Amino acid sequence: MSKLSRRDTLVLGAGLALGAPTLARAQAAAPRVVVIGGGWGGATAAKQLKIIDPRIDVTMVEPKEAFVTCPYSNLVLAGKRELASITFNYRALTEVFGVRHVRAMATAIDAGARTVTLSNGTSLSYDRLIVSPGISINWGSIEGYVEAAAERMPHAWEPGAQTTLLRRQLEAMPDGGTFVLSAPPNPFRCPPGPYERVSMIADYFKRTKPRAKIVIMDAKETFSKQGLFTQGWNLLYPGMIEWRGRQADGTVSRVDPAAMEVETELGTKVKADVFNIVPPQRAARIALDAGLANNSGWCPINASTMESTLRPGVHVVGDATIAGGLPKSGFAAYSQAKLAATAVAAALSGRTPVLPPVLVNTCYSHVGTDYGISVAHVVRPQGNLFVEVQGSGGVSAANDPEARRRESVYADGWYDAITEAIWGATRA
Ligand SMILES: Cc1cc2nc3c(=O)[nH]c(=O)nc-3n(C[C@H](O)[C@H](O)[C@H](O)COP(=O)(O)OP(=O)(O)OC[C@H]3O[C@@H](n4cnc5c(N)ncnc54)[C@H](O)[C@@H]3O)c2cc1C
Repeated sequence: MSKLSRRDTLVLGAGLALGAPTLARAQAAAPRVVVIGGGWGGATAAKQLKIIDPRIDVTMVEPKEAFVTCPYSNLVLAGKRELASITFNYRALTEVFGVRHVRAMATAIDAGARTVTLSNGTSLSYDRLIVSPGISINWGSIEGYVEAAAERMPHAWEPGAQTTLLRRQLEAMPDGGTFVLSAPPNPFRCPPGPYERVSMIADYFKRTKPRAKIVIMDAKETFSKQGLFTQGWNLLYPGMIEWRGRQADGTVSRVDPAAMEVETELGTKVKADVFNIVPPQRAARIALDAGLANNSGWCPINASTMESTLRPGVHVVGDATIAGGLPKSGFAAYSQAKLAATAVAAALSGRTPVLPPVLVNTCYSHVGTDYGISVAHVVRPQGNLFVEVQGSGGVSAANDPEARRRESVYADGWYDAITEAIWGATRA
């Protein structure tokens, strides 16, 4: 985490003052916001509320002591990064900005009574609630893919122990072995993620097991940045990566971890040395249990405020939402969280936010060493969805080696800047 600047030291002073007993009394009537989740959306919302108005009493409910990011976990799989380098603590949020971190799971939300029940047996009252709990794996939607199966065929779609497990399996795989990644149907967390993962694993194989083979079994007919990924694979890893889309019998419908085998919807059996099953997903458990999700398994929102269309006073951000033109990305969760914090702070003080918001998302992917690609979105709220601003965004230029080199540098810059903006001591 970066050092404190003079400006941050002043903020730090303010944060500490909030804890002083005399001021604490003066804060008794301060509006209370509870934030569920301390990931990309939750930590951003909690910090942003304190930046907008330090008097707001912000409690972030998150069981983890430190957060491991999914972004850049594919580089951990490639042996290019350590898990520690993508792990962030909450000290700046609590000590510098004055966010209260309660280490517990939220187990229930009563939107009528405006309370959140916690796994430690206590409950919190709120004036507004922001929920950014991410995804849950839709266990059993692929036959046999239950939690125990992920110990043999990891998903590594929630980082940490699963990332380490998959990395160990890749290290143990013999040269000449086969790695299979099963990619889910839309919508899912990080549309380019499976293809960046395959690229990074190919980069690792090229250095250490050049005879290895990679097969992507895909439940879709197309995928994010397909042209740019395919171009990179042909250039960097000729003959190593095979993509089987849905029409080419790519959809995995059953897994057999004991036999290290999967079966497709047309009944074809495929064996491999290492399987990475990225399964179908839906909103995290708490969002489902609290009635924030509709039949799709995701949460509809008013895109101008991120307020749930199903539970008034509850704002949902990040992967759990149905967001239209914004993908399920960390950058999108960050942008949505800032919008939600602005809307919540305005509602608590009886103001209306001034400008119609424009939100930005850029997803960088590493295809190889010094080889990056990107897709950008610029969107505006329209009813319950975000819609693309006409003529904006798009994928980066193909056939441009200098752009590939620069985009790998931009990707690193993006990661450093946004993680500092979310979990670091600077205001952003
Ligand atoms: C391999 C991979 C690579 C990726 N690369 C990129 C990338 O390069 N760029 C990008 O922008 N995005 C990327 N993403 C996507 C990004 O990780 C997600 O979009 C982002 O994490 C979504 O943020 P969120 O706040 O919705 O959920 P999360 O960041 O997952 O945060 C959810 C938090 O809520 C907590 N929580 C859940 N339930 C409860 C509860 N009941 N009570 C309390 N806390 C709870 C969890 O512990 C968790 O800490 C990638 C994803 C993957 C899998």
